[in-house]
Amino acid sequence: MFRILFECTGLWVVYHGMTSMDAKAEKRAAAKAAKAAASAAAKLAKKAAAMAAARVAADAAIAQIDLASYDVIVVAFSGGKDSLACLLHLLDLGVSRDRIELWHHDVDGREGSSLMDWRCTRDYCRAIAEAFGVKLYYSWKCGGFEGEMLRDGTATDRTAFETPEGIRYSGGDSPKRSTRRQFPQMAADLKVRWCSAYLKVDVCATAIRNQARFAGRRTLVVTGERAEESPNRAKYLPFEPYREDNRDGRRARRLVDQWRPVHAWTEQQVWAVIERHSVNPHPAYRLGWSRVSCAACIFGSVDQWASLRAVSPAQFDRVASYEGEFGKTIKRHLTVVQQADQGRAYAMSQADAVAATSERFDEPVVLPAGSWRLPAGAYGDSCGPS
Ligand code: SF4
Repeated sequence: MFRILFECTGLWVVYHGMTSMDAKAEKRAAAKAAKAAASAAAKLAKKAAAMAAARVAADAAIAQIDLASYDVIVVAFSGGKDSLACLLHLLDLGVSRDRIELWHHDVDGREGSSLMDWRCTRDYCRAIAEAFGVKLYYSWKCGGFEGEMLRDGTATDRTAFETPEGIRYSGGDSPKRSTRRQFPQMAADLKVRWCSAYLKVDVCATAIRNQARFAGRRTLVVTGERAEESPNRAKYLPFEPYREDNRDGRRARRLVDQWRPVHAWTEQQVWAVIERHSVNPHPAYRLGWSRVSCAACIFGSVDQWASLRAVSPAQFDRVASYEGEFGKTIKRHLTVVQQADQGRAYAMSQADAVAATSERFDEPVVLPAGSWRLPAGAYGDSCGPS
């Protein structure tokens, strides 16, 4: 592109001309834009098809679930919006509160680490359980995320889980020794993204397998994965036997099903049920996070790393220093410091920052009529576990 300036009746006029080189470049840019638009449209169509399939599967699933037939309904409760929507949906369906148990898998464990999670999450879960009159049991991998990550020629630690009779432990005696000393990989495969498997999925399974109270009974495990979140999650079945189901076993027979009631829900539906019940969402949503689990989630966007650095600098620094110590970054080729440098921190109020990073959650759970507001993080960056 070149420009010719000439004076015309006292005004400077700019004439835009074009060379054949410019025309070729523009053509290439137009072709690239058309390709990007086609790819975005294909992705949208694929997502719409996945959602439609999820809705059909969900309708079929609900037709075969007899909620009244389960003795215990365990809700895997992270404190995030999707698990909260699961709880509220069960209440909407008339499930009696005395059969519902919230199970929160404590990612940092109870041995003193606070590397990954929001400080308020544990107490937020307590507040929700108390407000709705349902039981709450915590469970965790001893040593938490940090302990598992620092394994160096050692076996994975034992799992602790609260029961009606107190804390029980299982495992920790495996002869298998190995070394991690690196963060989980940002992948859908739980073999390499070991945090989800070791700190959540396996912890839940261990707690079910090792409690005699589930033997000879019907248990429903409710989880909040949604098809919209990722192509991987879109493939999940809305209803299936849970992995610790042993209905046909010769010993310790137990029937355990798994239901994903919000699998076909949109984010809009999730926020709608929370608003209808006027429930105060986890404070991290007010800060700007759209998905809430670990504060320092390995899938964090550049804006989230920048925001974490602003809101919880000591936690951010510890993650950054582990990257240096291991000589391996969470995201290939970019340290969390470089990611944070590329991002922009959310506009966060001091009060919300304090709420998210405090051990206590002192706010009302059910907000007064007319005061519920959609948090800043709703419909934002949807990065998180896939
Ligand atoms: S929230 Fe992120 S870091 Fe935490 S366990 Fe899940 S995938 Fe891992």
